[in-house]
Amino acid sequence: MQNACQRGPAILHADHDHLHLATSMTFQCRTGCGACCIAPSITTPFFGMPNGKRAGERCVHLDAGNRCLLFGRPERPRFCSDLRAEPSMCGDSDAEAMTILTALERATRPGGG
Ligand code: SF4
Ligand code: SF4
Repeated sequence: MQNACQRGPAILHADHDHLHLATSMTFQCRTGCGACCIAPSITTPFFGMPNGKRAGERCVHLDAGNRCLLFGRPERPRFCSDLRAEPSMCGDSDAEAMTILTALERATRPGGG
């Protein structure tokens, strides 16, 4: 397993809109989680999603096993490639990651908090 997130967002980088999380060199993405490809919004257009992605919307590139279909391909957005799994974002389970990312989304969206 590699440290770079294979799923995919977020949140978590300057391009990924408004969420920003620290990165970890040791924590590894749970393959099949996919929370950061669903919970965060992506306001900038990207390949296959010309209007970006709404919070809670599955990225069209997330397969049934919650793996990124663009992984390793040039079409994969840089903000996805730059994202690194991080305990404070990923938690201890897929459900916890979804809860954390949903809360981050709400706290960081314009007018939110
Ligand atoms: S392109 Fe891949 S990594 Fe990025 S949000 Fe979509 S499924 Fe996730
Ligand atoms: S939330 Fe964390 S564990 Fe889940 S897919 Fe994203 S980087 Fe991987």
